[in-house]
Amino acid sequence: MKSYRKELWFNVPTRRAFINITHQVEDCLRESKIKEGMCLVNAMHITASVFINDDESGLHHDYETWLENLAPHEPVSQYRHNATGEDNGDAHLKRQVMGREVVVAVTEGKLDFGTWERIFYGEFDGRRRKRVLVKIIGE
Ligand code: ZN
Repeated sequence: MKSYRKELWFNVPTRRAFINITHQVEDCLRESKIKEGMCLVNAMHITASVFINDDESGLHHDYETWLENLAPHEPVSQYRHNATGEDNGDAHLKRQVMGREVVVAVTEGKLDFGTWERIFYGEFDGRRRKRVLVKIIGE
């Protein structure tokens, strides 16, 4: 069995953003030379997500509105977590809803997606360098 590991780095200039990382994961898969197996992609930070959905700007706007309704950033004093001196209590909650990782089947050297599926990095507390892990195993 072959095994491949790579870290992708992001430095999002805004507090929140959704970034399509499908091509970067496909580059990893090509580099791995694995044709049949599994590909795991996970955020390595507790205020960021990796998820799969449609690359459609209206949907991403809807996520932003929905998440901000669920866990508004302001006032930061509403979160017990922020009593530690941080201001990212909302970002931890947003990440929990949007998830930590995705697993995609690898078939004939390609990510075996469903219709319209793409992989996204969800940033909820940006303006610093953060990592995403890509781990691929198979033959
Ligand atoms: Zn925190």
